[in-house]
Amino acid sequence: MQPVLDYLATHRSRFEEELCQYLRLPSVSAQSSHNKDVRATADWLVKHCRSIGLKAKKHATDFHPIVTASTPRHPGKRPHFLVYGHYDVQPPEPLEEWNTPPFEPTIRNGAVYARGATDNKGQHFAHLKAVEAFLKTDTDLGCDLTFVIEGEEEVGSESLVAFLRKKKRELKCDGIVVSDTGMPSKKHPALTYALRGVTAMEITVWGPKADLHSGIYGGSVDNPALVLSQMLGSLRDKKGRVAVPGFYGKVQKLTAYERKQMKRLPINETQYRKLVGVPKLFGEAGYTHHEQRSARPTLEINGLTSGYQGEGSKTIVPSWASAKITCRLVPNQDPRQVNRLLGKQLKKLCPPTVKLEIVDGHGAEAYHVPPTGSMSQAALEALRESFGHEPVLLREGGSIPIINEFKKVLGADSLLLGLALPDDNLHSPNEKFDLDCFHNGAEMSARLWPKLAEL
Ligand SMILES: [Zn+2]
Repeated sequence: MQPVLDYLATHRSRFEEELCQYLRLPSVSAQSSHNKDVRATADWLVKHCRSIGLKAKKHATDFHPIVTASTPRHPGKRPHFLVYGHYDVQPPEPLEEWNTPPFEPTIRNGAVYARGATDNKGQHFAHLKAVEAFLKTDTDLGCDLTFVIEGEEEVGSESLVAFLRKKKRELKCDGIVVSDTGMPSKKHPALTYALRGVTAMEITVWGPKADLHSGIYGGSVDNPALVLSQMLGSLRDKKGRVAVPGFYGKVQKLTAYERKQMKRLPINETQYRKLVGVPKLFGEAGYTHHEQRSARPTLEINGLTSGYQGEGSKTIVPSWASAKITCRLVPNQDPRQVNRLLGKQLKKLCPPTVKLEIVDGHGAEAYHVPPTGSMSQAALEALRESFGHEPVLLREGGSIPIINEFKKVLGADSLLLGLALPDDNLHSPNEKFDLDCFHNGAEMSARLWPKLAEL
């Protein structure tokens, strides 16, 4: 192991230069004017992977290519892990808000500033450098590794989903490592072990066949906006719980270990309240704000529309009112079942004076890998040793759809070892990647593989 760590320490400035070369390529997947740049980035990546001793290939898809790169394979003889990342980046606009141009990487204050620095080029590049250190020092990794780096993450990963199904056998693995999440601070390296799921629906309450004069008709016909408000208002009780029968039926409870871990997270309630800018925090009774926003299910109204929205007043009974609703889900909740329960309750709440229309939207299941499991514990050890601080365990409140796809298609769990700091400006102007996170991340990766290989 020592030669690997020495190699990483010796070549730090070259790694930074190479990362800057990678960041100079404007691989904006959403803008067709950059299609050529996206392909050039995939080519650069293949060439770079080959130069460090990996067997690399560019795979054509219906849209942007996917790059795979493997260490020498020993199928069936030793464990095989995947490293997932994406080389495509978000559009850099608005350009005038960047202090230095987005595709002219600049190092200042110990960070490299460029579009894609942390999301996600810098993060998977750290893993590539770790593997380079093994290959160049002739040190055995103990396991086989395949990098899968796609070019469509920022536009929905459609090609990757098809690719996973097609290459299912080749990509069969014992686990996937993904560095595309965050850590609360450099003193709090983190393993994210759970993601919430989601389910969406749109409902419309239909009243009179047209907007009516409220002076002539008001009082004799029901008002869809009021009906909808009353229905929606009944979906939450006084304790901040979702008032839909059966909603909590399958919810996985937080363990004492998880609750203890969550108490160690750095942002306290006052800081959090200031961050979100509300006069007082709200939430389900009996849970901390960390738990409420990552480990408990919710129901939110995302949009609410009815009646006249223009200037001045307009005295009408609106013809209809509609709302967009999503629920964030936790492990064991089935998105379709939750939608069914919610739909049933809405129908029950709806009076006979109006008609109710429900349209189901997208859904994704929650994700959870036991943090006490051997893979998670190996990752925590690697984080502790490389960052020199006790790592924290995170649950993310949002979803990362591709993680579910890995589980569904390859049957493997993912370790989410994010290297992004809260102020790294992902998707925003002045995106940056902290160089300590880069180098510690490479060391973390180097320390991780032998541990995972031993399991
Ligand atoms: Zn992104």
